[in-house]
Amino acid sequence: MSRVEEVFEEVQRRNPAEPEFHQAVREVLESLEPAINRHSHYADYALLERLVEPERQIIFRVPWIDDAGKVRVNRGYRIEFNSALGPYKGGLRFHKTVNRNIVKFLGFEQIFKNALTGQGLGGGKGGSDFDPHGKSNNEVMRFCQSFMTELYRHIGEATDVPAGDIGVGGREIGYLFGQYKRLTNRFEAGVLTGKGLGYGGSLVRTEATGYGVVMFAQSMLAVKNESIEGKRIAISGSGNVATYAIEKALQLGAKPITLSDSSGWVHDPEGVDVDLLKQVKEVERGRVSDYAERKAGAQFFESGNVWQVPCDVALPCATQNELNERDAQTLLNNGCHVVAEGANMPTTPQAIELLQSSHVLFGPGKAANAGGVATSALEMQQNASRAHWSFDVAEAQLSKIMQQIHDDCVATAQEYGRPGDYVLGANIAGFERVADAMLAHGVI
Ligand code: NDP
Repeated sequence: MSRVEEVFEEVQRRNPAEPEFHQAVREVLESLEPAINRHSHYADYALLERLVEPERQIIFRVPWIDDAGKVRVNRGYRIEFNSALGPYKGGLRFHKTVNRNIVKFLGFEQIFKNALTGQGLGGGKGGSDFDPHGKSNNEVMRFCQSFMTELYRHIGEATDVPAGDIGVGGREIGYLFGQYKRLTNRFEAGVLTGKGLGYGGSLVRTEATGYGVVMFAQSMLAVKNESIEGKRIAISGSGNVATYAIEKALQLGAKPITLSDSSGWVHDPEGVDVDLLKQVKEVERGRVSDYAERKAGAQFFESGNVWQVPCDVALPCATQNELNERDAQTLLNNGCHVVAEGANMPTTPQAIELLQSSHVLFGPGKAANAGGVATSALEMQQNASRAHWSFDVAEAQLSKIMQQIHDDCVATAQEYGRPGDYVLGANIAGFERVADAMLAHGVI
């Protein structure tokens, strides 16, 4: 049994019933094999064993009172996975499916993603099984205040810097920041990112993940001497990442033709109207079916999914394991030749294998969606220097970072004899940076 297999067996034994965490670890460990074979010191000092074990796991009770006066109890998590390169950094997810397994898989992915950005960030993730759907504004505020009443003692601008993720956007970050400030009596802007523009937020942070995914897809297409202009793009989701991926795709002359949420999906053959989408999802907090009702030519479906619509480029931007092998086969049959992940781990391992073996360029989330966390690092920079960059300056920085991440993936895949394998390139390039720092720090 190889070293990597031994480590993976131990991960399964020690973390039973955590399938997404196993999936994320397996993908990374499998692609590290060539790097470990080439540089045997990467297996010294139990480096792999330490890498797969979070530095700290915090689980806490979050009691809050709903509008009817009833006490509700949720569970809060913060997994501080790895701080070799900087303070723990990663979003908070509020969704009914959140559990330790989900937060650990996200935290593990985050280590390598953050390393790829080159911005000096460790990896972490957190969240709660709180379901924001159908909650009033005051309920969301009371929940956020209760959540932060425990979390605040574990975070700080040099310790751990959370941000948003599914179910946590500008509104929630505002309530979380307010409670942190109240509890600590400190205006510590760098403790959270994704803040409002009036109190320390950065221009482009809202747009960054979605814009970055499209920039990454653009770089992938450029490798094939193709332009994104005129390409039909299938996108899943209709939240932060999907909305701004659609906006950037439109700016570049591409045609985004689908949307989805947990109630169903929309085909909009004439191209999504991003202003209407923002009105429905961001202002009215409505569903994609509301969008379809108001957009001429758009159709809403409850069954099936967006991957059945013929497209050139697919951008899964909703949630984990939402694109399976059958969907990948449909995409292939319909001529799709680039897939870039906006969500974290949206593509199943079998689907990735099929796409890669069929010569579809496949950009993994830890590279393709790193624009969000990279811009969070830019927000932290602005907070530290009390600067406010213009939209154009921040977007130019984001674009430079996305190109760098793309080129690092390509160069690393090439170096290891697997040209075009962005999964291997991203995992090894991120790993080498983290591993070198961990070895320098000794056994901790
Ligand atoms: P949002 O909450 O803004 O939007 C999530 C979207 O995905 C919604 O349309 C939601 O529909 C849909 N969705 C969520 N869970 C499910 C599910 N189980 N089944 C079907 N649809 C679902 O989140 P984001 O856009 O911020 O995040 C989307 C993905 O991108 C996540 O994987 C996240 O981890 C990843 N990501 C986000 C970053 C960011 O900066 N925000 C950075 C990097 C990655 P509904 O409203 O019906 O639940």
